[in-house]
Amino acid sequence: MHPNQLIDSHRHQGMRRQLMLQLRDKGIKDLRVLEAMNLIPRHYFFDPGFVEHAYQDKAFPIDAGQTISQPYTVARQTELLELKPTDKVLEIGTGSGYQCAVLCAMGIKTYSIEYIEVLHRKAGLMLDYMGYHPTLFLGDGSKGIPLYAPFSKILVTAGAPTIPQLLINQLTIGGLLVIPIGDQKQQRMFRFRKLANGQVEQEDHGAFSFVPLVGQQGWR
Ligand code: SAM
Repeated sequence: MHPNQLIDSHRHQGMRRQLMLQLRDKGIKDLRVLEAMNLIPRHYFFDPGFVEHAYQDKAFPIDAGQTISQPYTVARQTELLELKPTDKVLEIGTGSGYQCAVLCAMGIKTYSIEYIEVLHRKAGLMLDYMGYHPTLFLGDGSKGIPLYAPFSKILVTAGAPTIPQLLINQLTIGGLLVIPIGDQKQQRMFRFRKLANGQVEQEDHGAFSFVPLVGQQGWR
């Protein structure tokens, strides 16, 4: 959709508020996350003709066989990051740019990397149009971005086969990695915390379903 055609009508805003209430009922507790998601017109990230799907709690196809994540998943992953204003976040899998917009709306210094050129380009145009200026990269994010490391939080929005050690290496002490790990259909959402002694603490936050993480530390 051409940015000039984008309208965030009262109807869209009303549907968005309803969606936020649903997310709260499904267990999302961090009000800062819900407030940020309530600010972002999710339908801007959909192709024209499909905007009616934007305010359902569902993942939806975007270009190149990829998906914009389900709103509940975006809210839950963002909540698990326990964000603070001083955080420096790396998102792996820019996709549509929606999750990135939510992080930017929360005032977080955001870096995001996407493997597929058309998605990287479209997301960049939309984020720019919305007035957000994260640092965007095109490439294999499964290796992280060593040149810009360390990050206090890393968020992976595609399903990994194993824990990518290179991402743990790029976390600050006390930093968090939120990542779905499993097979190519179903994963468990893990949160890893890097401790001062170099050890890593792990928590399992339940079943989710993502498109596969590809690349060196992903599915090849
Ligand atoms: N966060 C996105 C959003 O808000 O629309 C949803 C992302 S979609 C579920 C997963 C994305 O991860 C896809 O766009 C895919 O191309 C990307 N991806 C998969 N493997 C990747 C890799 N190694 N590096 C960077 N991006 C990758």
